[in-house]
Formats: sequence, structure tokens, C-alpha cells
Amino acid sequence: MNEIMAMLTAQSVKMEGVGGGRGSVTPQLVAASLRGLDDELVLYGCVKFSGDDISIAPLAKLMLTNTLNAALREGWRISKRESVDTVKRLSIVALNESVCPRRCLRCRGAGTLNNKGACDRCNGTGNPQDYGQKLLASVLNVSEGRAGAFWQEKLRRELSVYQGFEQDIADKLKKELKD
Ligand SMILES: [Zn+2]
Repeated sequence: MNEIMAMLTAQSVKMEGVGGGRGSVTPQLVAASLRGLDDELVLYGCVKFSGDDISIAPLAKLMLTNTLNAALREGWRISKRESVDTVKRLSIVALNESVCPRRCLRCRGAGTLNNKGACDRCNGTGNPQDYGQKLLASVLNVSEGRAGAFWQEKLRRELSVYQGFEQDIADKLKKELKD
């Protein structure tokens, strides 16, 4: 909810166009607004912007296929100790991070600390630090060296796919709301 409002505000689109306010953005409404886009974009929009739990599993499945296809197409050099399971974990981490972005732990995403001004850890952005190689190594079950030398770049690649989704969704909503 907050995200769709923030997105729409950022895009200077009036909220009335998508149902009139908080609580009224349903998965059906999101799906209807995004009709014509690829399945994964519609599912992503439903999960992210209307909290649609039912769409999570089909979305995760489609995105895993996309990640595996990218790995094959780009010839990812997976080490002997890694496997399809590592790629699967990466796909899930990226989806999770995109749907529920972590927030700065110090200010809890607010960007400010109790009237003390901008948070010094995130410089007032509220964003968390990048997925460090230690954390990524533990969630992917790979060595820290591999996480830093290989998987961090793949994670950035995955996250950029979702950034593209959000841009496409925003563009589509803007267009729908104008008509
Ligand atoms: Zn902070």
C-alpha cells in the first residue's frame, strides 16, 4: 500500500485513479490496471502493490526460470561447490529484496533519528547497506570469496530486472490513469 502510493506520488499521478485511497488497492485492481503486460509483471505488481500472497508462488516459479535461463544464456561460471540450488537461492533473495526491501537498521527506514537530524548510517536515505558478501555468502551457502567475486554482481543483475519491472509498471499505470 505505502509503496503504490509512494510510487504514484513519485510519478505525479493522482491516487483517485486507482480506487480512491488506502485499503482499496486490490490484486484484481492491480491486475486489471496492468493487463497487457507480461505475466511476471502482473504477478509482481499484485504481490508488491496489493500484498497478494496467492501470486507469490507462481511469481517465484516464473522468476526462477528467468534466472536459470539468464545463467545458461550468459554462461555463468558456477564453481564445483555450487549448484542449481545456489541459483535458486539467488533468485529468491532478489525477489524477496525487491518485494520487501530491507531498511536501515539504525533509523528503521525513517532516515532521521528522533529529531537529531539525518541518520548517519544511511545518510538520511533510510536504505540498508548493500547486501555484504558475508550476508550473501550465508544465504547462498557459498564462500565469502565467491560471494564477493561472483554472486554480488549476479544479485545486482537480478535486482536491476525488478527495477525494470517497477519502471514498466509505473509507466503502464501512468498511461492507464490518463485514459
Ligand atoms: Zn538510517
